[in-house]
Amino acid sequence: MNVKLLDLTAQYLPIRNEIRRAIDEVCDAQALILGPAVERFEKKLATYCGTKHAVGVSSGTDALLCSLMALGVGPGDEVICPSFTFFATAGCVARLGAKPVFVDIDSRTFNIDPSLIAEKITGKTKAIMPVHLFGQCARMEEINAIACAHGVKVIEDAAQAIGARRNDAPACSTGFAGCLSFYPTKNLGAFGDAGAICTNDDEFAANCRLLRVHGSGHAYHHKFIGGMFRLAAIQAAVLEVKLKYLNEWHEARRRHAAIYDELFAGGKVVAPHIDEGNYSIYNQYVVRVPNRDRVKQRLADRGVGSAVYYPIALHQQECFAYLGVKEGDLPVTEQACREVLALPVYPELPEEQVRYAGGEVLRAVVGD
Ligand SMILES: *Cc1c(COP(=O)(O)O)cnc(C)c1O
Repeated sequence: MNVKLLDLTAQYLPIRNEIRRAIDEVCDAQALILGPAVERFEKKLATYCGTKHAVGVSSGTDALLCSLMALGVGPGDEVICPSFTFFATAGCVARLGAKPVFVDIDSRTFNIDPSLIAEKITGKTKAIMPVHLFGQCARMEEINAIACAHGVKVIEDAAQAIGARRNDAPACSTGFAGCLSFYPTKNLGAFGDAGAICTNDDEFAANCRLLRVHGSGHAYHHKFIGGMFRLAAIQAAVLEVKLKYLNEWHEARRRHAAIYDELFAGGKVVAPHIDEGNYSIYNQYVVRVPNRDRVKQRLADRGVGSAVYYPIALHQQECFAYLGVKEGDLPVTEQACREVLALPVYPELPEEQVRYAGGEVLRAVVGD
């Protein structure tokens, strides 16, 4: 049997006509950048995320960058974030001349460990950026309490977590702002790069709207030095169609995850732990296994796709060597890098393939 890690065609085919109609409307209107299609999507997205505003931008990376710019993050500032995440989280901080300050993760959830944040706060800390990794929210109430006590802002990197909830509050709704990615492999994927910033703060939202067009409110007048972070209308049209199906897709992923959980219970494969009160959208279903690379190869030999998110932590990247974080400084992160393996969990996956993949993981681990 062949089990793909992800099959975007399976999601596209049943909604092909609807999507092509939506794209056609944009083509006919020739309003290609921002404009009515983007505004319509932004309204629906804000409602979905439980925030007052949603600002469509060109990617998840640009959502993070634009948010940090709107907070005025720059040289001399520090931003606290995990090291076990996609590069963009800390890359955006460094691009603005600020310093990413890495905090280790909780070994059970892979999310930033709130109990380690306070000791990293200094007079220079401008923001905390938790990442809701693999589709599960970080412990926002603890993070917000620390941020509040020190007068710093919380920017949620919710790139992998649209529609995830913690104690019924959607991702993006409990921080000062939340950043989303619509990269095609995310639960809500565009047909190219796209992203959004969600917030309840009127002034911040207005500033993000300016920053995404070079800080310009009307033509040739520039209030800020911004960037080119505009969302394309075709992407918004596709996303508006897909948003209707998103909750069903989350539920299908959760059913697959429940099957894996049951298969792996009590064995050598450590299933992902979901914190009490969390509704995970399982952007990835990530297990820990001994001899990970060998298990991955055995799965490939048996036709089962898998991937490693992330094999190298950010503090161990060449470009961040100047930060001086040494091997062993973030032990939980480093151990995760050695043990994690993401298994197929996309919504359209037939149940028999989930069971086959799960069985092969168990066999591959026992083979040692
Ligand atoms: C995907 C992702 C991003 C960046 O999103 P892009 O749309 O690819 O720029 C940022 N942070 C995390 C945690 C991500 O998974």
